[in-house]
Amino acid sequence: MHVLVLGSGQLARMMSLAGAPLNIAITAFDVTSGNVVHPLTQAVVGHGLEQAIEQADVITAEFEHIPHDVLAVCERSGKFLPSTQAIKAGGDRRVEKALLDNAGVRNAKYAVINSRADFDAAIEKIGIPMVLKSALGGYDGKGQWRLKQAADADAIWAEMAQCIAASDNQAIVAEQFVPFDREVSLVGARGSNGEIAVYPLAENVHVNGVLSLSTAIDAPQLQEQAKQMFSAVADSLDYVGVLALEFFDVQGELLVNEIAPRVHNSGHWTQQGAETCQFENHLRAVCGLPLGSTKLIRETAMINILGEDTLPTQLLAMEGCHIHWYGKEKRPGRKMGHINVTADYSGELQRKLCELAAVLDADAFPAVQEVARQIQPQ
Ligand code: ATP
Ligand code: MG
Repeated sequence: MHVLVLGSGQLARMMSLAGAPLNIAITAFDVTSGNVVHPLTQAVVGHGLEQAIEQADVITAEFEHIPHDVLAVCERSGKFLPSTQAIKAGGDRRVEKALLDNAGVRNAKYAVINSRADFDAAIEKIGIPMVLKSALGGYDGKGQWRLKQAADADAIWAEMAQCIAASDNQAIVAEQFVPFDREVSLVGARGSNGEIAVYPLAENVHVNGVLSLSTAIDAPQLQEQAKQMFSAVADSLDYVGVLALEFFDVQGELLVNEIAPRVHNSGHWTQQGAETCQFENHLRAVCGLPLGSTKLIRETAMINILGEDTLPTQLLAMEGCHIHWYGKEKRPGRKMGHINVTADYSGELQRKLCELAAVLDADAFPAVQEVARQIQPQ
C-alpha cells in the first residue's frame, strides 16, 4: 500500500516509521513548497499534487490547516480519508463547535464574533472571564486572548479586529473560561467498517498553551464518558482513521475543548505504552485493515522536547526511557522531539519522572519539574 500524507512534519514521519513493518509506504506532500517528499529524509521525490494523488492508494492528512483547494483536489480523487469535512471541522472552530452541538457532545458555552457588536453581545451572553480564539489557523495556544476584566475589552478588540481583517473568512470564537481540574484527551481509531478502538485517556499538562507532559491514566468512569463522546463525534462524521478529543475535566464531568482529526501529540505515548501505536492504527484504518489492539501494555508518560536539540546521553542508559527526535532544525519553542518513559507500575513511573527531573534542564522541561515536586515535596 502507498499512502500520501498531506503535511510533511513529525506526524507523517512517525506514520512512515509505523507503516514500514506492514509494507505501507508513505510519501508526504509539503503543503508550503508543493513538493512531494520522503517523510524521513525530506528528500524531494516528486513535484505537484496531481501526480502524487495518482500514485497513491490512499490519501490522508497530518494536520487540519490545509488549503481548501488542496483538499478539494484530494476529495475528487475519492482516495481521501478521514473526509474533507472532518479536516475542515478541525481547522475552523465555528464548524467544530457546530459539529459538537449536532453530535450532542458537551462543550464550553460559546459565541461567534465578527464585529464589535458581536463581541459586546458575547460578553453579555458568556460573561467574564472569557477565552477568545481565532476561528482559523490556531494551534499550540496561538491566536488566543483572555478577557479577565471588562476594562481590557477595548485593547483586546483592537487586536482581534486586526486578526479578523488579516485573512479571508476569519472570525473569533468566544468561549466561557472553564475552571477545569485537569485536562485529559482521548485518542482512538474508527475503522472503515465503523469499528471503534480507543486508547486509555491521557492526562495532559500544558505550559504556555503548549502540551508539555502526557500520561496514560486509568480512570474508568471518565474513560466511559470520553468513549461515548468519541463515538458520537466519530459516528457523526462517518470517520475513518485516528481522531483525538481534548477535554476539560470539571469535577468528574468532561467537556470537549477541541477535536483533532488526526494522530495527536497526546497519543505519542502509545509508541511504547500500547499494543499498537496510534500511527499504525491510523494507517490500518485508512487502508481498510483491521484495527490493532489499543491495550495499555506499560505505564507510560510522554515529555515534549521544545526548542532543544540535545539531551544528556545518560537518558539513553535509563531503563524505559525512549527518545524520539523529529530531525528538525532548532528554533525557540519548536516541537523537536519527545521522550517516552515507561514503567511496570505507576509508582515506578513516578520514580523515573523524578530521576528525569534531576537530569533535564529545569527551564526547558518545567512540567517534569512540577510533577517531580508534587511527588517528592521538598
Ligand atoms: P493545540 O493545537 O496545541 O491543542 P490550540 O491552539 O488549538 O492548542 P486550545 O486547545 O483550544 O488551543 O487551547 C490551548 C489551551 O488553553 C488548552 O489546552 C487549555 O489549557 C487552555 N484553554 C483553552 N480554552 C479554554 C477555556 N475555554 N477555558 C479554560 N482554559 C482554556
Ligand atoms: Mg488544544
